[in-house]
Amino acid sequence: MGDAKILISGASVAGPALAFWLNRHGFDVTVVERAPSLRPGGQAVDLRGTAKEVARRMGLDERIRAACTDSKGETLVDRNNRTKATLRADDLGGDGLIAEIEILRGDLSEVLYEATREKTEYVFGDRITALDDGADGVDVTFDSGSRRTFDLVIGADGLHSGVRALAFGEESRFVRHLGAYLTFFTVPNHLGLQDWALGYNDVGRSAGIRGIHDGKEAMAYFGFAADDIEYDYRDVEAQKAMVRRFASGMEWEVPWLLEQLDDAPDFYFDSCAQVVMDSWSRGRIGLLGDSAFCPSPLSGQGTSLAFVGAYVLAGELAADFDNGLERYEAVMRDFVEKTQAMGRANAKTVFAKSRWAVRAQHLALRAMHLKPIAALVSRKMQDVVSGIDLPDYTTTPHRI
Ligand SMILES: Cc1cc2nc3c(=O)[nH]c(=O)nc-3n(C[C@H](O)[C@H](O)[C@H](O)COP(=O)(O)OP(=O)(O)OC[C@H]3O[C@@H](n4cnc5c(N)ncnc54)[C@H](O)[C@@H]3O)c2cc1C
Repeated sequence: MGDAKILISGASVAGPALAFWLNRHGFDVTVVERAPSLRPGGQAVDLRGTAKEVARRMGLDERIRAACTDSKGETLVDRNNRTKATLRADDLGGDGLIAEIEILRGDLSEVLYEATREKTEYVFGDRITALDDGADGVDVTFDSGSRRTFDLVIGADGLHSGVRALAFGEESRFVRHLGAYLTFFTVPNHLGLQDWALGYNDVGRSAGIRGIHDGKEAMAYFGFAADDIEYDYRDVEAQKAMVRRFASGMEWEVPWLLEQLDDAPDFYFDSCAQVVMDSWSRGRIGLLGDSAFCPSPLSGQGTSLAFVGAYVLAGELAADFDNGLERYEAVMRDFVEKTQAMGRANAKTVFAKSRWAVRAQHLALRAMHLKPIAALVSRKMQDVVSGIDLPDYTTTPHRI
């Protein structure tokens, strides 16, 4: 089955990473992306633990590191800009709250796209509107009107996956809100931040800013604790109004950051949610990355799961095409569940419920610089981020 035709929906992280490994194993790969071109933007995403080993096996380690944010750490401040705690990228062996490999999502997407574009057919500005899993393959209808047949279709199209909706059922059956929202947007670097970030925690909400692209600009973020809100995730203006409402009355740099919202060249807003499914495949249709098992940004592991999942899915398909989807799930399930448990635990503590809790957060972060506490936290972290034995697929039959 080395030349089987595989369609991937979504060209962010999971999609191009899967295309990379499928190309390596000799499959014929098409990626369809709804956006008209690669989507820029997004805050920094992280690679930790086993995902760093996958990047090494891809041979992209250097290119990814070269495109990293170069972030050396973050200072948490109070409303008067006084330092309350400091986090460093080399804390906890590089896999801490600020990870050693931290890269803007759009930049990572670009690295993966460049590494795959020669051997992959990319179709931008289109999406799947119907899937019919029949005896001779999966018949796919696209929004553009074209129809094609593939041996396998993989949804790597994120939290609001179109493939999941078509093949498995409506989003509300699988997406679990964790009681928080996050937003990111680019702003002028008025504080002259280079390789450092500033963060400000308030009761039930937080804000921050970091220098990006060698300090030429900065990325602002806000986080808010809030119950599930009905909103159109494509209506950017309504989301910006929501951010203004949530952040009203916050001090520190927040009033200035809110003034920049209208002119922001990019804007990302989403709920902190997890995707929980009994199975990630049905017939010849499978899911990968956030569409299958989003652990939420509060786990800091969405990109790492997508990376490891792409490697395992392609390897298992190469080893046994007919049973590859089930085998991929068997290898990944435990790793995913541990990661999602960490995401849920973080959701309970990340937004302080009182002024006292804000102080306790600062204290806990300062305590992490004590050696015995750092060792304990590091061990617990590694149990999760390196919590999978990476199979070696270099001896599978379709290796190129
Ligand atoms: C613009 C953007 C900004 C992000 N910013 C952050 C961030 O700051 N911090 C963070 O932790 N995580 C962020 N994420 C999520 C993060 O990228 C993922 O958690 C992780 O990298 C796993 O990626 P994924 O490829 O599975 O999903 P995603 O990165 O969500 O990518 C899904 C892709 O599928 C495309 N798509 C969606 N629907 C369809 C469809 N019907 N047909 C075809 N294509 C479709 C989307 O345009 C997107 O390119 C962001 C995602 C996006 C799209």
